[in-house]
Amino acid sequence: MAGLNALLAVAVLVGLVWLFRWVAAGRHTVWVSALYLLVPGAIAVSQAYRFGPAWAVPVTWAVLGLGAPLAMVALLLGRFRIVAVQPAFLRQYVRHAAQVDGPQYIGLCVFSTGVISLTIAEPFRRGLFSLEAGCQLCFLEDQVKRIMGEDTPAVAEYRAHLRAGSNRNVIIKRMQPDAPWQVVMRSEDTARDPLRASACPVHGPLTAGAR
Ligand SMILES: [Zn+2]
Repeated sequence: MAGLNALLAVAVLVGLVWLFRWVAAGRHTVWVSALYLLVPGAIAVSQAYRFGPAWAVPVTWAVLGLGAPLAMVALLLGRFRIVAVQPAFLRQYVRHAAQVDGPQYIGLCVFSTGVISLTIAEPFRRGLFSLEAGCQLCFLEDQVKRIMGEDTPAVAEYRAHLRAGSNRNVIIKRMQPDAPWQVVMRSEDTARDPLRASACPVHGPLTAGAR
């Protein structure tokens, strides 16, 4: 019995390490990730107290105390890492997100620095990207047109905001699997100023007045 308990304690520890790696990969929001660490962590510790061999309690505490903060730090740092990508790569990302059956949320925002933030609900992904080529504002409009159709009025609306000096977080969402896509343009406190896309013939003149 003691051997079996020791084996179980080792299995729980391996499971915890797997959990840390999974959380660190940033597949979920910070709060959900914290919950994923807290609940199994608490269960692992309580099981170690109840059934584990003597060494299981301090070792489980040590693994949890070291691994959980490291996983959260890796998750938070990952959220601020800017990944340089080819436009085609990021386009694929958005295309796959749009193909997911069921409710979906795709948020795209171009910061005044040119960094693009992309948030996808299903499966959850949030990342910061810098394009290795092309205009970031053209890229954003392209994604809107691919999902909403070439003649979507959302592009004109986006440009009107840019012309007025107001940057927008463009959210393309669908509440139900069969529902039509909707576009919402939010003003974000963190990204109010549009990018000055001076090299782009379309967006250069539009954003010439931007700070
Ligand atoms: Zn452009």
